Amino acid sequence: MKVVRNIAEIRSITSALKSSHKSIGLVPTMGALHQGHISLVEKSGQENDVCIVSIFVNPTQFDKKEDLINYPNTLTNDLEVLKKTTCQIVFIPDAEAIYNNAIISEEFSFDGLENEMEGKHRSGHFDGVGTIVKKLFELAQPTRAYFGEKDFQQLQIVKKLNSNENLGIEIIGCPIFRESDGLAMSSRNIRLTKTQRAEAPFIYQTLKTAVKKFETEDIASISQWVSSVFAKNTSLDLEYFEIANENTLKPNTSKNTNTKYRAFIAVFAGSVRLIDNISLQQQPNKP
Ligand code: AMP
Repeated sequence: MKVVRNIAEIRSITSALKSSHKSIGLVPTMGALHQGHISLVEKSGQENDVCIVSIFVNPTQFDKKEDLINYPNTLTNDLEVLKKTTCQIVFIPDAEAIYNNAIISEEFSFDGLENEMEGKHRSGHFDGVGTIVKKLFELAQPTRAYFGEKDFQQLQIVKKLNSNENLGIEIIGCPIFRESDGLAMSSRNIRLTKTQRAEAPFIYQTLKTAVKKFETEDIASISQWVSSVFAKNTSLDLEYFEIANENTLKPNTSKNTNTKYRAFIAVFAGSVRLIDNISLQQQPNKP
């Protein structure tokens, strides 16, 4: 596994790969790797000649300075973990090189996707995501790029970026990897206290109950129920719960038979912000 830190070097590697018609799979990450990330890496390795993983904590997608400062960094361990996977190249640029000393975002329009949920609650977040993803795509020249459904809105936005800018990359969405108690894996989970960690599976339990309720109840009553159960929880504060159209991400108040719906949730455990989501059209045999 090759570690590349230099922009000129990654450019020359990926240009050479392109010239020899090798397919490149890219997995962009912010490090503090867990099994969720690794599931993307393995898929990328299986489907491409070369798998590149980037590790870069992108400053422009953080709306709160403390969140950026406190973002976990486990680089030594990340490299050990990646060595055991199908990853051949790890790209670890620094912020100055990526941003040319001007750490600012490009402004994007993602046809309104950027104004919902995470966009409402994290000002400038998706301009930051668009900026870094576009730069990484330009450097890594991927044939396919892998993103988790854990950040479902981000996945839809990257698909929109790809089509708006005619990048011609195959954007692959990968299922959410969970701990055995249902908590969605996240780099932020290591910042939870013992009590918060013990309470955190409540988020997924609530989403699963919402799936059941969706069969018989209307959207307003499900949303009220979610607010009421979180109001009683002393460790977790609900930021938002929304049932939205999977494609437009617009919140829905009524159900249409031909629309795919998903429930989205953001919760604070102290200062740690956790997000999760679930399809409301579950396969019958799924637990
Ligand atoms: P991050 O390092 O948090 O920016 O995540 C890098 C990529 O891994 C993103 O595409 C995430 O959606 C994805 N990812 C993070 N956690 C999970 C998870 N639990 N399951 C699947 N994909 C994930």
